[in-house]
Amino acid sequence: MRAISGHSQGSEDTEVIPMRMGRPPRLGASTHHQAKSSGAICMSFHIAIIGGGVSGLSAAYYLQQQALSSGQALDITVYERKPQFGGNADTVVVKLGTLQNGQGQPERAFIRWADLGVNDVNLATYVKLAALMKDIGYLQHMKPLQDTTSYFTADGNEYLTDDAALYNGVSDARFNLAQTDGGELSKLIAVVHQHAIDLVAPPAGGPPPVPVSYTVAHYFDSCIANPEGMLAATARRLQIQINWGDPAIPARIARIRDEIYYPRISAMYFTDNETGPGGMPLQSPFQYYRVQEGGVTPDRRYFEYGSQHWLQALARWMEQHSTDKVKVRHHMGAPVKVTISPASAVVTPSDAPPEHVDLVLMALHADDALHALEFKGIPTDTAHAIQATLHQVRYTRSYGVCHTDDRLLPRNRNVWRTYNVLVHSPAQQVQPYRMSYVENFHQNDPLTPSLDHIGLPMFFTSLLPDLKQVQANAVLTRLNGDEVPQNLRDALPHLAQSHAPAHHPQTGYSHELGATHAHLAGKAWALFKHNVLNVNCIDAQSRMQAINEDNAQRPLMPLFFGGGWTNGAGLHEQCLAQSQLLTQWAQRYINRHQAA
Ligand SMILES: Cc1cc2nc3c(=O)[nH]c(=O)nc-3n(C[C@H](O)[C@H](O)[C@H](O)COP(=O)(O)OP(=O)(O)OC[C@H]3O[C@@H](n4cnc5c(N)ncnc54)[C@H](O)[C@@H]3O)c2cc1C
Repeated sequence: MRAISGHSQGSEDTEVIPMRMGRPPRLGASTHHQAKSSGAICMSFHIAIIGGGVSGLSAAYYLQQQALSSGQALDITVYERKPQFGGNADTVVVKLGTLQNGQGQPERAFIRWADLGVNDVNLATYVKLAALMKDIGYLQHMKPLQDTTSYFTADGNEYLTDDAALYNGVSDARFNLAQTDGGELSKLIAVVHQHAIDLVAPPAGGPPPVPVSYTVAHYFDSCIANPEGMLAATARRLQIQINWGDPAIPARIARIRDEIYYPRISAMYFTDNETGPGGMPLQSPFQYYRVQEGGVTPDRRYFEYGSQHWLQALARWMEQHSTDKVKVRHHMGAPVKVTISPASAVVTPSDAPPEHVDLVLMALHADDALHALEFKGIPTDTAHAIQATLHQVRYTRSYGVCHTDDRLLPRNRNVWRTYNVLVHSPAQQVQPYRMSYVENFHQNDPLTPSLDHIGLPMFFTSLLPDLKQVQANAVLTRLNGDEVPQNLRDALPHLAQSHAPAHHPQTGYSHELGATHAHLAGKAWALFKHNVLNVNCIDAQSRMQAINEDNAQRPLMPLFFGGGWTNGAGLHEQCLAQSQLLTQWAQRYINRHQAA
């Protein structure tokens, strides 16, 4: 416990704690401190959150809110390895060239921004995210998104385009999925899709969800073997007319599998390259679709200033709402190691002395947690259970690259889109399709409305299994906050207030690559990693929830686990759900600790 004598720098009872890099101020050698508010002195509980992505920051937010309403004195420090918050939310500002607005006019930079990783959310299903954003005044920055998915053959020829969510028209009528096979294909897709979702997330009062061992291949095999038995009830519920006596239906379902779902699932950041899309548990992609694309009326949104900005805004909001009694601090730019003992914990950033804390919340990937954690005096079976659970989670890696290399795009410019995904080592039967989403509306020049949407020069963000797939000289250069011209900083205020350091920021997990990509230093790319959402990972997720719950019931150690890897596909909404659980577990831990 820490006690802090309050000294307000801001308003009467509000202290604004500046975000900083490097060593935080030492608050005293002892872990026991006092918090003073309006003359009263009380013991403050110190929580360390490891990881400054959406999981860590949302956990800090919920803890802060809870403490502000309960009166609990709380001192929260978010430790982040990189010099910026964001994690997989990684936004780059890039210079595409210079513009000359007519003769005699000065040249000026042609600048855009792009999201390399996290891109969009669905406010129809992201109810926790919407509530949090509303609370901090951020909802207005979530802009409507039109998404299309296009499918291509390996040689760049277009095949199908699903433009159902476009506001106007279609990309190219020749390849319009809605008209393919006389419209029968898209009708059947709607039924196949909804039935799979019902199997993994049954409606209230329905049968239990299918087991994790039930794969995507099992599902399609069953639909092909008995289309009417599997799908007719769902079609009736959706009021979609299908002639189940049509002998073409089994082949149509096989086509849907091979030309729609297998390519789509192959491109997901959490798919297992070893088993391929067919070997994935049905629940992995379809729970993802339910959250990311579902809802009575899906409400897809992108981030007006890029996804990283929202997390920087959240961090700033927490600073501004810190009080003498409830503080949120940050320690950036250094990885930490954590030593857990039965009644206390020590957090050691690589650039600062060890600090004793009362409780640690891990909000980083399982492999990073494994690397960062050390146990001292914890029963061996408990420590082993945690390590074995973390070890069970395997990772995929992808490169997010912002570039102008249109060889990665299909030949048909009508279907060029900004964000595209190249599939990871596809299974034999799957052609290497490519998907594109309309996310470029926000990537045109915000300073020049007349240039918006004309798309010149065209640039793209690709998620690639291999960085060599894009020409090195086509990768755009990443600008830092201090390099962005003043007029753009004025238009995008977050850049002016950005916590970007003077030097080039670290990109994703590129530090794990060593010097291999030194020639791309300062360029707009990042290495992302994500847990493979296979049977082992889903098992590890439920084991970790049990470990957390057990520890909240009879505290064994000051440690709980959150982070996107612990819940579903780790979408923002799922990270927030886990952060709310972390807050409940932490509160129970604090209550017991204080009662003892
Ligand atoms: C390519 C890609 C695209 C995605 N797109 C979307 C999308 O559009 N919408 C959506 O909702 N979700 C998307 N996701 C899922 C996304 O992962 C989650 O939404 C979310 O960003 C995960 O947040 P997190 O905080 O759990 O992990 P992360 O964002 O990875 O944050 C973990 C943090 O821990 C830090 N860290 C690691 N080790 C240490 C250490 N030892 N000490 C201190 N800090 C450490 C890391 O630097 C990192 O910042 C995408 C994921 C990927 C990979």
